[in-house]
Amino acid sequence: MRPFILDPIFTSVRSLKGVGPRTAKLIEKLTGSEKLVTLLWHLPLRFIDRRFAPTIANAPSGKIVTLTAQVEKHIPAPTRARPHRVRCTDGTGAVDLVYFHAKGNWLNTQFPIGETRVISGEVEHFHGMLQMPHPDLIGTEEEREKIEIVEPVYPMTAGLTHKTMHKIMTQVLPHVPSLPEWIDDSLLKREDWPSWKDAIEKAHTPDDEADLLPNEISRTRLAYDELLANQLAIALVRNFTREQDGRAFPVSDEMTENARAALPFTLTGAQDRAIDEINQDMAEPYRMLRLLQGDVGSGKTVVAFFAILNAVANGAQGALMAPTEILAQQHAHNIRPFADELGLKVQILTGRHKGKKRTEILEQIADGTAQIIIGTHALFQDDVIFKDLGLAVVDEQHRFGVHQRLKLSDKGNGTDILVMTATPIPRTLTLTAYGDMEVSRLDEKPAGRQPIDTRLISNERLQDVVEGLQRKIASGARAYWVCPLVEESEIIDLAAAEERYKLLQNIFGERIGLLHGRMKSKEKDEIMQRFAAGELDLLVSTTVIEVGVDVPEATLMIIEHAERFGLSQLHQLRGRVGRGKEQSACILVYDRKIGEIGRKRLQTIRKTEDGFVIAEEDLKLRGAGELLGTRQSGLPEFKLANLNEHHRLVQIARDDAKLIIMKDAKLQTERGQALRTLLYLFERDNAIQYLRSG
Ligand code: ADP
Ligand code: MG
Repeated sequence: MRPFILDPIFTSVRSLKGVGPRTAKLIEKLTGSEKLVTLLWHLPLRFIDRRFAPTIANAPSGKIVTLTAQVEKHIPAPTRARPHRVRCTDGTGAVDLVYFHAKGNWLNTQFPIGETRVISGEVEHFHGMLQMPHPDLIGTEEEREKIEIVEPVYPMTAGLTHKTMHKIMTQVLPHVPSLPEWIDDSLLKREDWPSWKDAIEKAHTPDDEADLLPNEISRTRLAYDELLANQLAIALVRNFTREQDGRAFPVSDEMTENARAALPFTLTGAQDRAIDEINQDMAEPYRMLRLLQGDVGSGKTVVAFFAILNAVANGAQGALMAPTEILAQQHAHNIRPFADELGLKVQILTGRHKGKKRTEILEQIADGTAQIIIGTHALFQDDVIFKDLGLAVVDEQHRFGVHQRLKLSDKGNGTDILVMTATPIPRTLTLTAYGDMEVSRLDEKPAGRQPIDTRLISNERLQDVVEGLQRKIASGARAYWVCPLVEESEIIDLAAAEERYKLLQNIFGERIGLLHGRMKSKEKDEIMQRFAAGELDLLVSTTVIEVGVDVPEATLMIIEHAERFGLSQLHQLRGRVGRGKEQSACILVYDRKIGEIGRKRLQTIRKTEDGFVIAEEDLKLRGAGELLGTRQSGLPEFKLANLNEHHRLVQIARDDAKLIIMKDAKLQTERGQALRTLLYLFERDNAIQYLRSG
């Protein structure tokens, strides 16, 4: 249960004065939740300093000032289009408070003649007269303390005003409880960090430009808290899975030799190294959790196959899960010949398998007849029961959430896990997503590949592109034509692809296929198969082919509105060609109205085929989540930590979490209790369940 001490900040903003359902909804829109705690993570962007209190004669135009002056007279609005003026003086000069459309009697009660008022707002000179249009704050001299303040300015959403936000935040901050310290004492001293409560208060009351920087000491502490919660949660889950009995799958030399002999190529040095690393891991009696990272075309599938062999050689099953139907089919297609040669039984299960066929497959998975199981999300379903799942390989991980991965491993007993991704995830990101995961890298491409000739062409020259395509196809080439994301809506994307398809059909006739995400899986397979078999020359598609599709004979890739894609996405798409011995080309058709930055981005793609360089560039231009495919990324989104600014802290948090698990894995010491509070504070309490069992 959540510690009571957190209750005051886990109530709804509706409990605050002046906050009704409408404002609560706006807050939710802004922070993702109605809970007060999410407002604590919502830090100011700037501040308004009202401490500057000059005399009227010295008040500079265009500045926010706080003036103290006596009301001299009212000059009511002569017409509705003109303002009401309240003239005030302080002995050095006069200022007009200017109000449009104000109720005269309200102004008269606010500003009785002869009284002194403290007024804050921006001043300007108008026809030689100092004036302050619509002052922000007004009060009596006794109220000066409430006026000569520094006001934080928060990121807003439409419908919410600065004033409302200010009112809300001044009510929220007094609710902030003092919490037990969860940060290690020596770290706290070394970094000179304030307590959590002080840090929150300081972060919300900036009064200096430096206070707004991510490396400001309070903000740094809060970022660390968030990262520590993240690392600790991951470490708890990891520890739990490790504690469960792992299995030892010693390598079968015979099977490996046979498999190598069956390959039509020699493995690259990088593939050999990765296979060795995996073999060593799997031979140990604990659970493997390893990431296999390799650029498109680096040959990850074959490595996965060797890993699967380890499980199978020891009488267990191996599963390979792909993010799409097409990919699952393709993996099955590629793996079957080898499996046949080795006398192993491959089964495939995807969403298209229904009814009797599905039951049949499930039976084979359950009774162990199926030794290698290839599939999609369908493998997660509850009624999929493995006889003995020894290894789960998850391809193109970023399409799956982290908890999905765990779910798959739950289907076995101490199941080893191998995650494959083509996105070169920077170390900081790997840490925050998976914790301390072992990584094998395929940093070498199979020999004989030629660089892909990448060109940028304006859409004004689409005709030339089509003519070039005609020539290529006439000489026997196979090509992809990718239509862009027009909008969020798949239906609109589809319409664009269909239109392009019709147009190209007029030119290329029957040997052209259309592929999109809304097609039935059977239709998709059929089209893919025909393209792979060379019955189709041209494949028009939406981005469904982005990941993994492998047709080595395809040598031309045309991408329309390339400027709308992310760089890593373009890189993935381009990676569909250049897989065989033939020289391949990629044509990025861009909108002629593309901006300077857009052009620069596309130049990056043109200049390099190094996925890592591209990913770094992409990370600079876009957020981490987007790099890995937005919401599906399974990557945690941080509210306080910024991985560009705080990567040093990720390391520290990782080391700290490791130490905590070593010393106090059940979080029972005093600090352990405080750490539990931290997990609840950042709503990572689902990790706490792993403390009970195991
Ligand atoms: P990715 O890493 O993008 O998933 P794949 O596993 O799909 O790459 O492999 C891409 C292509 O390269 C496939 O056609 C595969 O058969 C081939 N391939 C893999 N390893 C080698 C190698 N060592 N030598 C030659 N071709 C290879
Ligand atoms: Mg692949």
